[in-house]
Amino acid sequence: MNCIFCDIVSGRSDASVVHEDDDVMAFMDIRPWTSGHLLVVPKRHASGLADLDPGDGAAVFAVGQRIATALRHGPMRAQGVNLFLADGIAAGQEVFHVHLHVVPRTAGDGFGLRGMPKSPSRVALDQTAGVIRSSLT
Ligand code: AMP
Ligand code: ZN
Repeated sequence: MNCIFCDIVSGRSDASVVHEDDDVMAFMDIRPWTSGHLLVVPKRHASGLADLDPGDGAAVFAVGQRIATALRHGPMRAQGVNLFLADGIAAGQEVFHVHLHVVPRTAGDGFGLRGMPKSPSRVALDQTAGVIRSSLT
């Protein structure tokens, strides 16, 4: 299997590592959206959320949370942090090994997610909630 993040986890490819434990690795993104932008990945390969072990997902989030705290309160002095995960091409996923983006934010840094909020009725929201609820496994 050809996976750039598996190559990083195994040491076959270079990375600027911020954290490593038995299950998770965190390293700097090579094309950062803001200074300090990094990625947290499970060491066990999962191409997307559907095949991600929930324990690995929890470990990835815990490391992301810990790094976000360091970014906010350590020398990076971020004013805020965005966590972002793209699952699927339509969501913007380009590397098919699950990764959590940790993006330090400062006022006016130019980074943002574009969106057009809509104003659905409560009936429509309840209907959509029911559809999603019935498909939970
Ligand atoms: P996504 O669009 O969520 O799949 O994001 C993939 C991210 O991986 C992008 O932000 C890339 O800059 C980053 N990336 C790709 N290759 C590498 C690499 N070798 N080391 C670090 N980051 C990488
Ligand atoms: Zn992989």
